[in-house]
Amino acid sequence: MARDLKLLIAGEWTEGTGDDHYEISSPVTGEHIYSVPKASQQDIDRAVAAAREATEEMRHWTAFERADMCLRIYDLWQPRVDEVARILTLEQGKPLQAESIDDIEESGDYFQIAAEDVKRLSGEYIPTTERNRRMFTVHRPVGVWAAITPWNFPVMIPMEYVGPGLATGNALIVKPPEFTSWALLEMAQVFEEAGVPKGAISIIPGAGDIGEALVTHQGIDAIGFTGSSPTGARIVSQMGLKRSIMEMSGNGPTIVTEDADIVKAAEAAVYGAYYNAGQVCVATERLIVLDEVHDEFVEASIKAADVVKLGDPFDEHTNMGPLNNEATAAKMDRHVADARDRGAEVLMGGGRAIGHPTELYYEFTIIDDVPEDSMVSQEESFGPVLPILRARDDEDAVGVANRTRLGLQAAVFTNDLTKAFYYADRIRSGTVIVNDSTDTWETFQPFGGAAGTDTGWGRQRIEEFTDLQTIVFSLRED
Ligand code: ADP
Repeated sequence: MARDLKLLIAGEWTEGTGDDHYEISSPVTGEHIYSVPKASQQDIDRAVAAAREATEEMRHWTAFERADMCLRIYDLWQPRVDEVARILTLEQGKPLQAESIDDIEESGDYFQIAAEDVKRLSGEYIPTTERNRRMFTVHRPVGVWAAITPWNFPVMIPMEYVGPGLATGNALIVKPPEFTSWALLEMAQVFEEAGVPKGAISIIPGAGDIGEALVTHQGIDAIGFTGSSPTGARIVSQMGLKRSIMEMSGNGPTIVTEDADIVKAAEAAVYGAYYNAGQVCVATERLIVLDEVHDEFVEASIKAADVVKLGDPFDEHTNMGPLNNEATAAKMDRHVADARDRGAEVLMGGGRAIGHPTELYYEFTIIDDVPEDSMVSQEESFGPVLPILRARDDEDAVGVANRTRLGLQAAVFTNDLTKAFYYADRIRSGTVIVNDSTDTWETFQPFGGAAGTDTGWGRQRIEEFTDLQTIVFSLRED
């Protein structure tokens, strides 16, 4: 039976004051799974006002008090992992055993790490030109954040903002997409139990119009956005002088050189293309293989693809579930058709799998001899596809790799150290991974794109949630 969910606003679970609801079906079963109210402008204003009060309160807490709050959240998080992971699978489609459980568990880690980081977040004592002057810096909370987050990691990505945000005394209004908000709302019960001040976290699911209402709201100081590049560009043009962290699309190249371990490279490439059904900003989106090892690589990747088990994501043997939504499946259809039209060869898959409860189950797809100007090469596909492009030599491979605006995370397979540096020095990408999938991830890895508008995270992620305040003293001249 479908659940009636409530919004979390100003510390209360509420229907809100709007008239509309979103009715959401599962990509796994096609069944109606929940209904969630659509917030009104009045609800948004209330969340913003409560957030302001909460951050004003928390800015006076010590770092150790905020760290303790984060550790309480972390402790309350763990016993709920299995229950929330099941909801995540039902609403998002990712396989329960292979992905959802780890995904929810790892989402809680942000609180533990933020608790550690905030205790070491110190300012500087700065030298001055005047003998009686003393100058130092302290980190202050930025204030009220809107975190606008996507549907591929509907709990983890919000926590990338909420963990370090709360630890530094900010208040956050999280806006997940309306169609992946249940797991997040379910887990959000831990905030109240952990003693998070009322209003420090509000959760308002919704579509782009709710996002826009937050982006343009005068009471919001900063925007955290993870999503597609076109939406990110729109947000930047609308938000005015708000602080922001923008994390957007990737079209990461993976390069396989002549001296690579071809079997390992093929396994990693396949993994990067099927994990979360390819719906990851660091998915293996473009495989660039040097001519000399092309045939060997193609053969190895077809073999490696045996590992993919598409099916019911609640089945423990399944490692790839359905795509999350029709827009993504339709984009896959377009990319495959365009590649075919341009003369590429579909070696495996290339369409929707039949015999499943919805039409969102997509075959694992390998496409060979993909021309560089095809959609599957130029754009982020966000589906289970491995497009293989050829390169004549290293210089050619770098050229192909860099002809994108979406340089988020790249990979190079080589056993030659000099060659690894050759590529790392030339590929314009936020991260370059040597000898592993682009889909390689550490919770607090610095993260962000080159060649695009992406600002990403610095090494000290926690600092991004603070304003640096300088305090200057003029001492009495004795
Ligand atoms: P995708 O194409 O993967 O759904 P989007 O970038 O459209 O990615 O969505 C990411 C997040 O941005 C979602 O929470 C979505 O609702 C939100 N969003 C979409 N359009 C806008 C907008 N114009 N202003 C603010 N947020 C938006």
